[in-house]
Amino acid sequence: MREFDVLVLGGGVGGMMSAIYAKRRGLDVAIIESMMLGGTLWQIEKIENFPSYAEVSGAELAENFIKQIKHLRVEVINDEVVDVDFSAEKKVLAGKKERYSAKSVIIASGLSYNKLGSNEDDFLGRGVSYCAVCDANFYKNKDVAVASKKGSGIKGALELANVCKSVTILDSGDMSMYAKYNKNDKIKVISNVKDLKVEGKNFVEGVAFTVEGDEKSLPTSALFVELGKKPNTMLFKDLKLDENGYILTDEYMETSIKGVFAVGDIRAGKLKQLVCACSDGAIAGQNA
Ligand SMILES: Cc1cc2nc3c(=O)[nH]c(=O)nc-3n(C[C@H](O)[C@H](O)[C@H](O)COP(=O)(O)OP(=O)(O)OC[C@H]3O[C@@H](n4cnc5c(N)ncnc54)[C@H](O)[C@@H]3O)c2cc1C
Repeated sequence: MREFDVLVLGGGVGGMMSAIYAKRRGLDVAIIESMMLGGTLWQIEKIENFPSYAEVSGAELAENFIKQIKHLRVEVINDEVVDVDFSAEKKVLAGKKERYSAKSVIIASGLSYNKLGSNEDDFLGRGVSYCAVCDANFYKNKDVAVASKKGSGIKGALELANVCKSVTILDSGDMSMYAKYNKNDKIKVISNVKDLKVEGKNFVEGVAFTVEGDEKSLPTSALFVELGKKPNTMLFKDLKLDENGYILTDEYMETSIKGVFAVGDIRAGKLKQLVCACSDGAIAGQNA
């Protein structure tokens, strides 16, 4: 078993920032990442709300972070953590390849977005988005659509209506009551939408769907998939979670188990954004 002072589970922005702070305190730190350092950054076409950049791609930001991790000589282990044991003072992470232990563990394994399950992946970052807060501004004065299930798209639609010309909620259920009481003229609602798929060459140009068997189409510049998200907490059932499954922490980012911290999208924070993951990481890395 390999031993460290601090193990960081997940190499997205939250995990990398945690490692940067812990390493600069002179601790022996490793990040365990199953895919690639950068995490969700690789899915982001354009970012306008990261400090000091008017505009930057997720890939460029990921590359800069990776340079910083290398510069600080943080060890990066390519492994997928499949089990954890937080019962003793030394916490254990079991990877597919090896077992690791540390006095402190920082969980930074992010969340997964529920997918539409049609051809959305072909248009990811080219009109398909999972984050209205992040991407609304790229569709200023444009017509956009929101894929929704039992009203899951309402919050995103309201966010989009602040900047977009029109927002059409395409809900797979019955949204007649919402449509009746909706006071926002920019928001239209279509209920009982099935077989939703994206149309376009390189970018989203429209969506096709059926309503009670009738084929329909709608021109749109973007499709926001707002079907809910779930934190990657399958391994952490012993930690206190909130009602939606996110890990609860105190102000030091420490969870209900001493020596176990959580940062970024997996934590029960109010906003899931890069700067929030950075801030969480700084606090956890300083206290782990
Ligand atoms: C399409 C899109 C656009 C966005 N745009 C913006 C934006 O413009 N501005 C903004 O501020 N925010 C934006 N966000 C949100 C932002 O990307 C996230 O808030 C942030 O990246 C979360 O970082 P994280 O470190 O918590 O998680 P992640 O980046 O998700 O990293 C988690 C990492 O953990 C790894 N991992 C998971 N489980 C395991 C395991 N068992 N073993 C080993 N490794 C594991 C994963 O491979 C991943 O690399 C956007 C999100 C999306 C999806």
